[in-house]
This record gives sequence, C-alpha cells and structure tokens, in this order.
Amino acid sequence: MRAVIFKQHGGPEVLEVADRPKPVPRADEVLIEVRACALNHLDIWTRRGIPGIEIPLPHILGNDIAGVVAEVGSLVTSVSVGDRVLLSPGVSCGQCAQCIGGDDNLCPKYDMLGYRRDGGYAEFVTAPGRNAHPVPKGLSFAQAASIPLTFVTAWHMLVTRARLKPGEDVVVLAAGSGVGSAAIQIAKLFGARVIATASTEEKLEAARALGADDAINYETEARFDKIVKRLTSGKGAEVVVEHVGTATWSTSMNCLASNGRIVTCGATTGYDARIDLRHVFYRQLSVFGSFMGRHDELIGLLKFFEDGRLRPVVDRVLPLDHAAEAHKLMGDRAQFGKLVLEVSAE
Ligand code: ZN
Repeated sequence: MRAVIFKQHGGPEVLEVADRPKPVPRADEVLIEVRACALNHLDIWTRRGIPGIEIPLPHILGNDIAGVVAEVGSLVTSVSVGDRVLLSPGVSCGQCAQCIGGDDNLCPKYDMLGYRRDGGYAEFVTAPGRNAHPVPKGLSFAQAASIPLTFVTAWHMLVTRARLKPGEDVVVLAAGSGVGSAAIQIAKLFGARVIATASTEEKLEAARALGADDAINYETEARFDKIVKRLTSGKGAEVVVEHVGTATWSTSMNCLASNGRIVTCGATTGYDARIDLRHVFYRQLSVFGSFMGRHDELIGLLKFFEDGRLRPVVDRVLPLDHAAEAHKLMGDRAQFGKLVLEVSAE
C-alpha cells in the first residue's frame, strides 16, 4: 500500500512516500481503507522524536482518521465492511482499573494511532474494533477526520476537568489551533461567554465566526490579561483553556477570577512555567491537567455534529503526498483549524 513514512527523526523533509505492506487486523481489530487523516501537533513531535519515547521505525504518522471498513476481525460485531467510520485515536488495554472505570486515557498502556503504532498517513490502517464509530450524518471524510483528537481533548478540558457552567467567562488561547477552535464551540454549547486569543486579525475574525464573543490579538496585546479584566469588569475569567505553555502561562494565570480554574493539555512553547502561589491561595485558584479524553466523551459529542451544534473546522485539504508541506504549514501556525490529508477521493 502507499504510505507516507519516516525512517529517521527530523524535519518535514524526512517524510517520504513509500510502499508498505498492507496491515492485517487481529481478531479484535478492523482494517480501515483510509480516506482522510487530519494533522495534530503530536505528528510534529513524533516526527522530531520525543526524549524517552521509542517510536518504531519506519513509522506511519496520523492520529485522526476517517475511512471505510475494509475487513473486520472475527470478534468485532459493532461495525461491518463498507461502513463509513471515524476512529477514536486512543488505544488502551481495556482491562485495567482505569479502562474499566472509563478513564481509558489514564491506562498505563495508553497509546494512540500514529504514535507508537502506525497511523493514517496510508491507504490502510488497523485499529481496535471498538475505536470505530459511524461518521456523523452529512459530514465528509475530511470533516470527520477533523473531529476526534481535538474535540475529545477540548471536551475533557472544559466539561470533565474544569466543570464549565453556563454564564461563566472562558478564555480560549490560540483560537486557530485545533483544540482552540473546538474549545470555543464547546464553551458556547455550554452557555459560556468566550474570549478568544489569536495571532492575526484573520484568525480573530474566524474565532468570532465560530461563536467567540470577544477576541484579542496576543501579538499586538501581549498583556491580554488586562483586556480580559476589562472585558469582565475587573472580575476575570472563571476558566482559562491553556495549551501554549511558557510563553503565555503567567498571563493566563492573571486572567483568572477568584475561584478560577486554569486547565492545560499541552505546552507548544515550552514546559517551564512560573506560578505565584499567593494568587493560588488568596484567590483559591485551581490548576487542572488534562490529557486526551475518555472514549465515552467522544461517543457523546459526535451527536452534536449531526444537528450542527458543533462543526468541524477544516482549514484545507491536501493530497497525502503533500504531507511534508502540511507539516511546514502547521509548524508555521499558518492554519485556522485542521489541516487534512486526503488519501483517496470520496
Ligand atoms: Zn487499561
């Protein structure tokens, strides 16, 4: 089968088109004919190499996959050959206490499609049968592939970890990212007021189109906390959605209202951040970590795509062979929403 692989870690140039053996599904797996695969920041980190994480080489990237079921293992009864499906990216053991309790994202054996096992930059991929879910009605494969990782991550952050309530003020950093564009929509779904930040006027406009009530350009307004305070009449925001890290952490903390919650799922600019503990205890602030999301959260949120209350945000679709170009675009933060590789036309 045709695939985009890398044989060694490095820049976008290590990605190459190659012929790879078609994978064979185990009894509890499905074989998917991939139609579309969306990019995530994790693709870049995996391509570059992550200290302490061994990636089997050559490797096929791609966590967010939509396609058609081509084969089902003998134990799979939930989907059939020919079904249009999207894949939940998280692969867990299904047997440990965390998995049985529903916290599969905390499974000690947690992995993702395209992370330590092969992913969707290919004509075919295998995945556990329980990871395959019907594509919400009315969506293309490219739109379906844009949903899983970012929406389940943003849902877990806002709904499960930060316990967002109607009427609260939410600051969403980097509205143009996949998580940012999902978080804006989920916060609006729960009746919050959203203040988004982004790096260009075009992205601010796109954030407003997704439902953001206010938008701040953090390139020209580095002290976005002061604007958040002004927009909230001095109160601050109850919730801040963080995934930028070093560059914004202190300012993000300053945005919080008393009893405020900051929730982080990543740190694209670095892991070192300073916390002024006086603010944490005087104002009773909470810091929540958040990693991916629970499988049942993804199943639950998919229905909101059928009635249009959540929408996939596709920046552009490129052919699979243009994977290196797509990686450059993502590295330059040139996109609003998801970059999608199309493996074969509908
Ligand atoms: Zn487990």
